[in-house]
Amino acid sequence: MKPWRERARRMIETQIRPRGIRDTRILAALERVDRTEFVPEDLAPLADADGPLPIGEGQTVSQPYMVALMTELLALPERTRVLEIGTGSGYQAAILAEMGMEVVSVERIGSLARAARERLARLGYRVSVVHGDGRLGVPEMAPYGAVLVTAGAPRVERAWTDQLSEGGRLVVPLVIQPGLERLLVRLKTPAGFQDSWSEYCRFVPLLPGTGNDSYEHDGPPPGSRFSK
Ligand code: SAH
Repeated sequence: MKPWRERARRMIETQIRPRGIRDTRILAALERVDRTEFVPEDLAPLADADGPLPIGEGQTVSQPYMVALMTELLALPERTRVLEIGTGSGYQAAILAEMGMEVVSVERIGSLARAARERLARLGYRVSVVHGDGRLGVPEMAPYGAVLVTAGAPRVERAWTDQLSEGGRLVVPLVIQPGLERLLVRLKTPAGFQDSWSEYCRFVPLLPGTGNDSYEHDGPPPGSRFSK
């Protein structure tokens, strides 16, 4: 067995399963995705650490447990189209793709979007990475069976629930005071929304607009870039 695969197994047994994640689809996906591919080379030895890791541009790849928990809270039926806000490294998107989901992921920083798109394609994942402001969702590919926000949001954007199908869930780390978020799960039903709260957490902030690097100037406007 490849060394990273053994490390992934150990990570699951020490960090994920003991904290109550039981969905075998999630555990299997965590075992099959090599997290070292999603962190800078010098951090590869720490890839399975029990916390977030820097990925450049002041951003982070989330703690493995947080990835597993948010995925579980989405309660995904097979082959769901999932919208992720905050592609970052692409690790969360890879986990969802590995579970057989159809993933659209939006990232505001052009260099991160491009790196994640290339990485996911190289690893064989069919994920549509969009460079744009995720507060607007990605209406071109809506509706989504689930929406996952992976940055700390000051409020729930209307676009997220508008682009969500009935029966689908939005999971978002909502800022409840500066420096502290709590995971909100919002289920869309014909009769309205049903909210429930999960764990407290800390994410990098959801920011307005798109990050300024040259990448956003060489193509169509934000929100219209797809890898496939
Ligand atoms: N899911 C990622 C981790 C996300 S870190 C992973 O698996 O690696 C949060 C990401 O959200 C950062 O890359 C940040 O640039 C991005 N982000 C912040 N505000 C955003 C916005 N308005 N739209 C899209 N992405 C945003």
